[in-house]
Amino acid sequence: MSEPRLIPQIERYKEFLPVTEATPIVSLMEGTTPLLRASNLEKHLKEEHSLEATVYLKYDGTNPTGSFKDRGMTMAISKAVEAGSQGVICASTGNTSASAAAYAARAGLKCFVVIPDGNIAMGKLAQAVMHGARVIAIEGNFDEALKMVVRASEEAGLTLVNSLNPFRIDGQKTAAWEIIDDLGEAPDYHFIPVGNAGNITAYWAGFNVFKDNGRSNKLPQMMGYQAAGSAPIVEGKVIENPETIATAIRIGNPASWKKAEEARDASGGTIDKVTDDEILEQYKFLASHEGVFCEPASAASVAGLVKAASEGKVKNGSVITCTLTGHGLKDPERAITFAQEPVKVKAEFEAVLREVQS
Ligand SMILES: *Cc1c(COP(=O)(O)O)cnc(C)c1O
Repeated sequence: MSEPRLIPQIERYKEFLPVTEATPIVSLMEGTTPLLRASNLEKHLKEEHSLEATVYLKYDGTNPTGSFKDRGMTMAISKAVEAGSQGVICASTGNTSASAAAYAARAGLKCFVVIPDGNIAMGKLAQAVMHGARVIAIEGNFDEALKMVVRASEEAGLTLVNSLNPFRIDGQKTAAWEIIDDLGEAPDYHFIPVGNAGNITAYWAGFNVFKDNGRSNKLPQMMGYQAAGSAPIVEGKVIENPETIATAIRIGNPASWKKAEEARDASGGTIDKVTDDEILEQYKFLASHEGVFCEPASAASVAGLVKAASEGKVKNGSVITCTLTGHGLKDPERAITFAQEPVKVKAEFEAVLREVQS
């Protein structure tokens, strides 16, 4: 028999994760995602902003449920099963619920998700429903949903699988480890969208683990980007009514706020904001010039890179990585607003040829 092409992410990095022989690994073969060189983006940065750099996209939309949340969820659900949990609960802007529902289904655990009504991308809701989660939509935002599930987990004896669960952060460190394993060294800058700030926290911790273990010689500057209408860390205050088309980062009071600031300060990086227009510009650019269809929130990392480059904040000759957090098909309604109507012609060869040659 030949070697299996994929191995569970927990297997691959078990020496760095809090698992033992007694941990039942619940996996959908998450992780080991592509690190794609972005040559057309490099060309754009050079021509428009005089930045000569090597840029890679860490495309986490190729995870089993279509977002990086699977990296943390394989850990959180495996540890929940190990602890004898009967069910899990989370608040979600969409992707956490899709991932929790899938891994819970696989493990035979009950799954409850609380979402802000009307602000979940269609694909994500479809996933939670199909995987059999009990979906509770509140007339409120993510921050209110999170408060409620923290209490509900205690009173109903359910395992909380938001990124307040430390195993989520542990699992998400693997993305930083894969980048170092692929490049043979840490990048100079890592750009990443910031919502609840769990992922930037996990990457920074992950980069540090590998540096401490001699797997890399340096640490990247952490460059986090919030959406302008939803930028509590940048503004230095809780945003009561966060607004952005990037619903996955529509969060006004991030759970890992302090840790994100620590990552920024310790790495000499930045946490800044990008407008919805800047996000959508890169969302379209990546799809049409790099062949990578990510969801709007994901494009905040590349929008951040373009902004930083335009401000002269990125050194020439750098190696840069940008996390693309989720798959574009999660939010088909957003994509279709940019789509041109198909040209309608008769079912005749001549009519089709005319269009092809026009
Ligand atoms: C969850 C999520 C984010 C934000 O990650 P945080 O850890 O909450 O900062 C960004 N993009 C996508 C697609 C997500 O699902």
